[in-house]
Amino acid sequence: MVLPTRRDQAVRALLTHGLLTDDQPLAALLDLRGVQEAASALHAAFDAVTAPGQPVLHTFAVKAATLVPVLRLLDGFGIGSEVASPGELALAEAAGLAPERIVLDSPAKTGAELRRALTLGIACNADNPQELARLDTLLPDHPGHGPIGLRVNPQLGGGTIDAMSTATATSKFGVALRDPGARDWVVRAFLDRPWLTRLHCHVGSQGIALDRMAEGVRETYELAEEINATAGRRQVVTLDIGGGLPVNFASDEVTPSFAAYARLLAETVPGLFDGRYGLVTEFGRALLAKAGTVVARVEYTKESGGRPIAVTHAGAQVATRTVFAPASWPLRVAAYDRTGEPSTEPPVNQDVAGPCCFAGDLVAIDRPLPRLRPDDLVALLDTGAYYFSTPFGYNALPRPAVYGYSVDGRGPAVLTPLRRAQTLAELVEEAGGSL
Ligand SMILES: *Cc1c(COP(=O)(O)O)cnc(C)c1O
Repeated sequence: MVLPTRRDQAVRALLTHGLLTDDQPLAALLDLRGVQEAASALHAAFDAVTAPGQPVLHTFAVKAATLVPVLRLLDGFGIGSEVASPGELALAEAAGLAPERIVLDSPAKTGAELRRALTLGIACNADNPQELARLDTLLPDHPGHGPIGLRVNPQLGGGTIDAMSTATATSKFGVALRDPGARDWVVRAFLDRPWLTRLHCHVGSQGIALDRMAEGVRETYELAEEINATAGRRQVVTLDIGGGLPVNFASDEVTPSFAAYARLLAETVPGLFDGRYGLVTEFGRALLAKAGTVVARVEYTKESGGRPIAVTHAGAQVATRTVFAPASWPLRVAAYDRTGEPSTEPPVNQDVAGPCCFAGDLVAIDRPLPRLRPDDLVALLDTGAYYFSTPFGYNALPRPAVYGYSVDGRGPAVLTPLRRAQTLAELVEEAGGSL
């Protein structure tokens, strides 16, 4: 007999608690122990390579899961927040994060946003020369400001997903280090600004090879060494190495691991771990993806042109990237029967469609899966980051509820609401009306 996984038990609990209904045929689950395990793995990976006493602040890239209870949970596991908009900052504040555990990165910070960051004393990474010039005028009025850094782009090239590659020659992020004169400009910018004490790079997300990520960190480290040598003092004291560890969407295996990346960094950039620099990390997807599951009811099944199709309630509104770029963002789909047991039907090739009114709203195409029937459930696996927390408002479909779950021994899974579903009244109100 195959023992039910924690995920299976949570899917079952959704049904036992009557949480999948006609009104809410879609819900999302987050494995709280899975989140804790990922957080522990991140800490252990860097503890194994850093020098004794070397300051390390791990932050979570909030855009990967914009849910206040998740930020609070991660903070409890020693992981702060990396925010990139006034909204994300508000979420981190609502989660109770201390200012010294928040880092602000964004390519489009307004004057008001910068003033707020400086007043709060959170760390802030400037993106470009114009932003530095703004900081020049704002800083004298904000003596309590936090650490300030500059984002650089080592221009190492992209990965397999263009939209996720931030270190291309023409990327919109950071100061492009290989452009003529840019590197000298950066060194001078630091010498002119003693308050500029950090360098930041984030080479990309998903689809970037690990050695390229490590290369980006090495270039950033070497630039810090050059700045400090030219300044004749330790001006750059912290390196923010971004996030971007890719996630395996093909099986339950966690690969690459934080440990493998930390070891590669230690081989590629040994000086990063001799204790002279403080470190900041900003992982998003690798901390949350594996812990999340979207669960949707199958409403109808049909055949079209000989192809079986299951029409479900999970489509582009919760799996936006997968629907619009299926080759880059394939998801595993698991089938459960109407009682919440893993389906034992023999597999047939079928499409798994969402509820949105456009033909491409498919989360799996011609996929061998147990033959689905009405009232069965489909689960989209590894969707803890950038899926249900980042819904797309198509067809006025509501944001689904999100439940955290924990499984103790052999008892049923315990569900904790993390976000309730958007109501029709809220939806109408947000659309400029009232019910
Ligand atoms: C998106 C982003 C991250 C997180 O990327 P992941 O691939 O989710 O780890 C970290 N830093 C910055 C600046 C980002 O834009």
